[in-house]
Amino acid sequence: MVKPKDFTKLHADFNAPISQRHDCGQWCAPLNDGQPVCCTVDNAIPIVDKAEWKSLKARTDLWSKYKAPKGDKHAQKIVDELPDTCLAIECKGAALCERDNRSLACRSFPFYPFIDKKGRVIGLGYYWDFEDRCWVLSNLEIVEPEFVTELLHAYEFLFFKDPDEFDVFKGQSTQQRRTFSKLGRDIPLIGRDGELYKIPPYSDEIIPAKPSDFGAHGPYVSDKAYKQAIKELS
Ligand code: SF4
Ligand code: SF4
Repeated sequence: MVKPKDFTKLHADFNAPISQRHDCGQWCAPLNDGQPVCCTVDNAIPIVDKAEWKSLKARTDLWSKYKAPKGDKHAQKIVDELPDTCLAIECKGAALCERDNRSLACRSFPFYPFIDKKGRVIGLGYYWDFEDRCWVLSNLEIVEPEFVTELLHAYEFLFFKDPDEFDVFKGQSTQQRRTFSKLGRDIPLIGRDGELYKIPPYSDEIIPAKPSDFGAHGPYVSDKAYKQAIKELS
């Protein structure tokens, strides 16, 4: 069973940013009231294991339990459907972020460990619902190998401590496979070596890929589209 001290270790060992060269929040925040998309509960509610909550609470007052706003049925449903072992939480916001006290979800976003049908952790999949808001998902080539390695080590450690977590991400991977197959899209995969790959629809093949194989999304498809999206907000 995973313990608070396991999360303390896991946090200490997983600190690499997605990229040293790019501050991705500079791209998404102007389209989200100046706040990075993944740091606002309107977009992403951080979910933590209760052992992670204990680890964080022992170190910082950055976090509090999340309460869905009155009338927000979507947020309430997320909270209501959480298993007993998990908790929805909220931080004080990006201006007060404490890098060492981020949750595992913060450190990983927008990625998760992708598990193939044989149960092998083969790289990073991503939360595709955020393609229209998260700049990184239109620029996968900026993700650095150190981030990939640290993320996978963190989750493999977690899977060792709590095999139920492995099942959660196997299910998430299956969901991405089904969704992309139905859409006729290749799954973009960042391999364990930090290189880009693609998995074709209804296939287990892993094929080397280049950034142009995936293209960009939403306001990130071009400079013109980005400037237009900013203009529409003003
Ligand atoms: S990971 Fe995505 S959503 Fe989060 S700050 Fe970077 S670009 Fe924005
Ligand atoms: S702790 Fe930091 S990275 Fe995590 S949601 Fe809050 S501001 Fe964002």
